[in-house]
Amino acid sequence: MSKRGPSTEQIHHPFRAPDGWDAVPVPVAKASTVLFRNTAALHQPRSGDGISYRYGLPGTPTTYTLAARIATLEHAEHCVLTPSGLSAITLTSLAFLKPGDEVLVPDNVYGQNRHITTGLLSRLGITHRFYDPLDVPAFEALLGERTRLVWLEAAGSITLEFPDLVGLLTACRAHGVLTALDNTWGAGLAFNAFEVAPAEAPGLGADISMQALTKFPSGGADVLMGAVCTRDPALHRQLVAMHEFLGHGLGQNDVEAVLRGLPTIALRFRAQDAATRELAQWMAGRPEVARVLHPALPGSPGHAHWRRVSPQAGGCLFSAVFQPRFDARRIDAFVDALQLFGIGYSWAGPMSLAVPYDLTRSRSLGLPWTKEEGGTLVRFAIGLEEVEDLHADLARAFEALRD
Ligand SMILES: *Cc1c(COP(=O)(O)O)cnc(C)c1O
Repeated sequence: MSKRGPSTEQIHHPFRAPDGWDAVPVPVAKASTVLFRNTAALHQPRSGDGISYRYGLPGTPTTYTLAARIATLEHAEHCVLTPSGLSAITLTSLAFLKPGDEVLVPDNVYGQNRHITTGLLSRLGITHRFYDPLDVPAFEALLGERTRLVWLEAAGSITLEFPDLVGLLTACRAHGVLTALDNTWGAGLAFNAFEVAPAEAPGLGADISMQALTKFPSGGADVLMGAVCTRDPALHRQLVAMHEFLGHGLGQNDVEAVLRGLPTIALRFRAQDAATRELAQWMAGRPEVARVLHPALPGSPGHAHWRRVSPQAGGCLFSAVFQPRFDARRIDAFVDALQLFGIGYSWAGPMSLAVPYDLTRSRSLGLPWTKEEGGTLVRFAIGLEEVEDLHADLARAFEALRD
């Protein structure tokens, strides 16, 4: 009989399950403490690529497995995971910008990226300018001595203009400026961030692709997570170094949830894309609606650029700009009348969502339409319900707009 107490017996239990276990899901490895075999292992220097077992914070086998799968999804070589899409944006900006640098950001950038840029980065002495993602000559004129990083987003948030990626990336290459693409909309499935137009411009792509795994990769509306991918080992090392400064750890149950979402991501993406196009097209024919913003619709801003880069994929989002005669209060009534559409942020989960937006204070360069052309906008995110049920729900809610 051992003389050890029951606690010690449990903590130092000698049983190890036999090797040879294999199954479809990845085992969930949790740790703050990581054990070293001996002091010689403890004294070994750390690797710079971010993959080493020294402490739970950088990652466990589960984290590194997810990172490798996201790198594959993104056509990248390296991936750093963060606790949200937002923290992936902050990580990227902080990894490559220093006081005195300037960052260029598209005017339709994800709202929190605008917030970080104008709030946090300004405080650090990093200046910024917003650019029109459809106007390459005006963009090129902004590239200067101090321009260190350019953010891109395709399609842009809420108004879904598809940028002239080929033109913008060509200009950045010519000026030797680093590029980071927020690839949440396309998830790595719509187009390859590192080679956006292979037939036309081989090798032209962003240096860094960031995405919110909160959206398509999770697919469950239950996890927050982000990823920053690159093909360049030197850029990856800089990201790993900043990741370490910020202490971006992840809960392994969350990592597991995203791993569980990945086998179905392409199927979900295709189904949501098809339903979104069907509903967007139908909305475009409604007399209450002034215009529908969806990059696959001819007439939507950036449609030609979308056709060049992402002709097969349209995402799960569209926005409807209502006729100016409907004020914000009546649009709220329309959204409240929807029964299947939840009212809430985020998207790419199972439930369809609708959110009215007033964009007048979140654009520096104006909107792609005038007050006379259209009023309040509602952004729709299409989930996995049967499309005919969503269709019927929208048709019924239009009754709430009857004059
Ligand atoms: C949702 C989203 C993010 C942020 O992701 P969170 O995980 O919610 O922080 C970043 N960029 C885009 C385009 C998004 O839609």
